[in-house]
Amino acid sequence: MRVLVVEDEKQLAIALKKGLEAEGFAVDVALTGTDGLWMARENDYDLHILDIMLPEVNGYQICATLRDEGVWTPILMLTAKDGEFDEAEALDSGADDYLTKPFSYVVLLARLRALLRRGGRERPAVLESGSLRLDPATRRCWRSETEVKLTAREVSLLEFLLRHENEVVSKREILDHVWDYAFEGSPNIVEVYIKHLRSKIDRPFGLDTIHTVRGSGYRLASDGD
Ligand code: CA
Repeated sequence: MRVLVVEDEKQLAIALKKGLEAEGFAVDVALTGTDGLWMARENDYDLHILDIMLPEVNGYQICATLRDEGVWTPILMLTAKDGEFDEAEALDSGADDYLTKPFSYVVLLARLRALLRRGGRERPAVLESGSLRLDPATRRCWRSETEVKLTAREVSLLEFLLRHENEVVSKREILDHVWDYAFEGSPNIVEVYIKHLRSKIDRPFGLDTIHTVRGSGYRLASDGD
């Protein structure tokens, strides 16, 4: 899942990026409102985290602009002071949730997970496909009753494939959602990770659920398809 953090307090922005990346998110950071709005329009994120008080364009304005333009990506606002006024204004401008600084990291993660589940269509907390189950919140994965150990990046890749079960997803889409904007390595990294996943969730079980679609990308099919 790819997240945009718009926050002008550099230390907080860096801490958020590091923390969320450790949880398997791909994170881009913008330090000004102008950059944040540009990046939000230019890229396809699964979630936006917006500070309210920002140089140039503030968080309310970014939020209202995106909503006006029909961008419905879930938005979590960070408010510096508490008070009903801020909360009301954040929600009025089209944010889905808000958090008052200073916040606990555990609470932030729980809110983000809740927003991702709610975002767009209803999403189950635990993702399933045939005998495969993935709980993105705890990063645990099972094939039938056997638990499969995955790295943070593998969880992120599998989560993306599961959210697009039976659809063909291109390498580019995978790179955009599972790696971040600054990633400049070879797109072949996707093949490498697909191979890792197959060796963990398919091969030991005699299955072949991650199909290569020549010239297009990959498709996760439930077992037996
Ligand atoms: Ca600020």
